Amino acid sequence: MLILLRTQSEVRLRTVTRLLAAQLVAQPKQAFSTTTSEHYDIIIGGGGLVGTTLAAAVAKNKTLADKKVLLLEGAPEFKGFDGKGPYHNRVSAINSNSIQLFKAIDAWSHIEASRYKPVKQMQVWESNSDALIQFQHENFANGVACIIENDLILDAVYARVKEACNVKVLNRARIESVRLPQDSGCSNSEVTLQDGRQFTCELLVGADGANSVVRKQMGVDVFSLNYERMGLVATLELSDDAGDNAVAWQRFLPTGPVALLPLSEKESSLVWSTTVSHAKELQAMPPEQFVEVLNEAFCRQYPRVDLADKAVQALNAFFGHTSAQHHRQYPPRVCNVKERSRATFPLGFLHASSYVCRGAALVGDAAHRVHPLAGQGVNLGFSDVRYLVESLASGAYAGFKLGDKQHLVKYEQKCLTKNVPIMIGVHGLHTLYSTDFSPVVLLRSLGLQLTQNLPPIKNLFMKQAMG
Ligand SMILES: Cc1cc2nc3c(=O)[nH]c(=O)nc-3n(C[C@H](O)[C@H](O)[C@H](O)COP(=O)(O)OP(=O)(O)OC[C@H]3O[C@@H](n4cnc5c(N)ncnc54)[C@H](O)[C@@H]3O)c2cc1C
Repeated sequence: MLILLRTQSEVRLRTVTRLLAAQLVAQPKQAFSTTTSEHYDIIIGGGGLVGTTLAAAVAKNKTLADKKVLLLEGAPEFKGFDGKGPYHNRVSAINSNSIQLFKAIDAWSHIEASRYKPVKQMQVWESNSDALIQFQHENFANGVACIIENDLILDAVYARVKEACNVKVLNRARIESVRLPQDSGCSNSEVTLQDGRQFTCELLVGADGANSVVRKQMGVDVFSLNYERMGLVATLELSDDAGDNAVAWQRFLPTGPVALLPLSEKESSLVWSTTVSHAKELQAMPPEQFVEVLNEAFCRQYPRVDLADKAVQALNAFFGHTSAQHHRQYPPRVCNVKERSRATFPLGFLHASSYVCRGAALVGDAAHRVHPLAGQGVNLGFSDVRYLVESLASGAYAGFKLGDKQHLVKYEQKCLTKNVPIMIGVHGLHTLYSTDFSPVVLLRSLGLQLTQNLPPIKNLFMKQAMG
């Protein structure tokens, strides 16, 4: 009995000693890391339109279906969209390539079941000369653009994300800092949130907008310009003679373009790019005065450049068009601006010199930002999503790690080939139309009218714009 009791206490003593020894060994480890970090294959930083669409597209891709994805969004959870209340003031002209992407990830039927407006025609015209360009349905080449509320797009892609079993979403999850393999020498990227939580992943995707934390940590050069212009948006009610209101209108004023995008038979969305002081003035105006100034902006006579007018007439005559064949149409009259729908956004240009490094990639406004005059910004972001998912899937299939730079570079090459010409074109248009210097007015009027008269060039432009 005595022998048994002695043996039991020896066993207990040995166990306690082993536990103590194990703790002592563990202590130096704890001194390096006080928090344990969860590991994911892909972390997407930023759950805006582009980041959430990327999460949905990764979840839908068969080759990537076993990858664990974390979507981190700084804002509170998206409340959803019921399509019943007043139209939202943030809308986007979505091109046919983006629509194809939504179809591929099963998000289009969600949008189709709600409210959106296909654009059947476009008219873009000058204020310093008679030059104008009109796009009819047949010029849209491979499909029409649709005007869709941003919240509806987010609702559609978020629904796909929520039903994906390999994607986890964290809201109120603001990324404070990032460590990439190039800084830490580790093979994974690390993310720390403002509340101290930490995560690691093979690939960190920066979808966190123009002030991207991920991009800053990547250390890539950025070319950026502040246009010193604001985009004023608003939801407008139209007078009864708007017809089926399926035309997008844009007039280049000396201060910047003003555009009406159709939402329904009786409502349109406004994007008015103008100087900062003018935008603030417009935002503060009483509604009646705002409506009056807006209607005037679409028909007011600005100082003309006679030479440009003569050149436009000569071009039309050369192509055998009478002025009646090319008559300018005017947009429907605006009769009211929806209460509290006016908001302003700073406009600028940004392009990252590189979209990838080992363990990280950029998509959407984190990589590039353009003037909204051609409705390209988020469409370029959706095309990044398509290219990134294609590259990740082919890399994973070939056995590469997701954060391997060798296959991420292929994503970057595809994006640069597509994005750079469009971004230069949009920036060029902004620059050309930011002056009323006569020779420039002459040049751009000739360009616009020549394009109007040459359907192949017009179709080529439209093809580029549509994706
Ligand atoms: C007036 C106006 C009109 C426009 N019209 C059009 C149009 O007609 N067609 C078109 O194609 N484009 C248009 N654009 C451009 C388009 O709105 C943008 O390109 C698009 O919103 C970019 O989406 P994104 O998801 O890349 O970035 P963002 O919309 O900026 O989203 C970034 C997300 O990341 C989150 N985030 C940021 N930092 C952090 C962080 N540290 N941690 C966690 N989360 C973070 C933000 O909360 C946000 O949800 C327009 C832009 C403006 C200003």
